[in-house]
Amino acid sequence: MHNFSAGPCILPQEVMQQAAQAVKELDNSGLSLIEISHRSPAFIDIMERATSLALELLGLQNKGYRAMFLQGGASQQFLNVAYNLLETKAGYANTGTWSTKAIKEAKLLGEVVEVSSSKDTNFNYIPKGYAIPTDLDYLHITTNNTIFGTQYKTLPDTNATLVADSSSDIFSRQLDFSKFGLLYAGAQKNMGPAGTTLVVVREDVLGKVSRQIPSMLDYKIHADKESMFNTPPVFAVYTSMLTLEWLKNKGGVAAIEKENEAKAALMYGEIDRNPLFDGFAAKEDRSTMNATFTLNTPALKESFEGMAKEAGLNGINGHRSVGGYRASMYNALPLSSVQALVDVMKTLEKNA
Ligand SMILES: *Cc1c(COP(=O)(O)O)cnc(C)c1O
Repeated sequence: MHNFSAGPCILPQEVMQQAAQAVKELDNSGLSLIEISHRSPAFIDIMERATSLALELLGLQNKGYRAMFLQGGASQQFLNVAYNLLETKAGYANTGTWSTKAIKEAKLLGEVVEVSSSKDTNFNYIPKGYAIPTDLDYLHITTNNTIFGTQYKTLPDTNATLVADSSSDIFSRQLDFSKFGLLYAGAQKNMGPAGTTLVVVREDVLGKVSRQIPSMLDYKIHADKESMFNTPPVFAVYTSMLTLEWLKNKGGVAAIEKENEAKAALMYGEIDRNPLFDGFAAKEDRSTMNATFTLNTPALKESFEGMAKEAGLNGINGHRSVGGYRASMYNALPLSSVQALVDVMKTLEKNA
């Protein structure tokens, strides 16, 4: 099978095997990963490795950042971010479904300025060149828009604390991550199974709001307790740690970025070349993770989908708000899977 699923999605084969083994028995301990105390030395070590690998891969070690593995998904962070950072006014760039949801939660807690939006054209581009107020507590962006297939190539220029939902492109490319005050990512796109969310925060960003923060929503508490304020999702954290080790062994973010660029070039090259298909996202904003495209000859729909199924291509249907198709090309997806999809597109054209 070629797994193009948008999330949960493909993980490295060797990570799957190691994770499955750890459920049976963790490192010759005679016990399963999921039946030992999260306060055992074995699991404390796993949590430490996971958080320090996350910082290392982002180039944020010894720069005043903390990494945490929390629960509730990226959607929970829509609320947590505002709870912990929004005192008077926050700015949000609205680039899709996830940004819209983040805005909705933030509005529960204070003034929110939508600094830009690409809603006018169903979010097929990343707005640029807009004015950003200078009195924001923070500016929130969604670095990769999973549903629409757009991605920031450069970060907005702002004096405000930059906050990002990077759920679907974390660890996929190099950026100057020290430009972010906070970034978060649900595990189930480039890291591990659903059940945990990575939050990376620069310590000086915290402790500035006057409201009382419930303990489970308080980043400072989770950071001080090393992600062990309550029982962490041990399987999701362990599997994420394995993926981060896999990535480090491959050469880190710089190495995977090259592979991701090669996959994206192959995919978009065919979308642009093949007269039967049209890309959805504006070319300069195309995501290297999620390629969105449509078939412009409806009569060939059944034929294309039948051939795709035959070729073992799984998860290429577009999100209902865009339609068409979406090829998600996360870190663990091999180039050969993109080639298999491209081959089907070419064959469809030849037979048409
Ligand atoms: C998938 C996704 C989410 C939602 O993640 P959950 O863990 O399901 O809450 C949020 N933002 C982005 C960019 C996503 O891709």
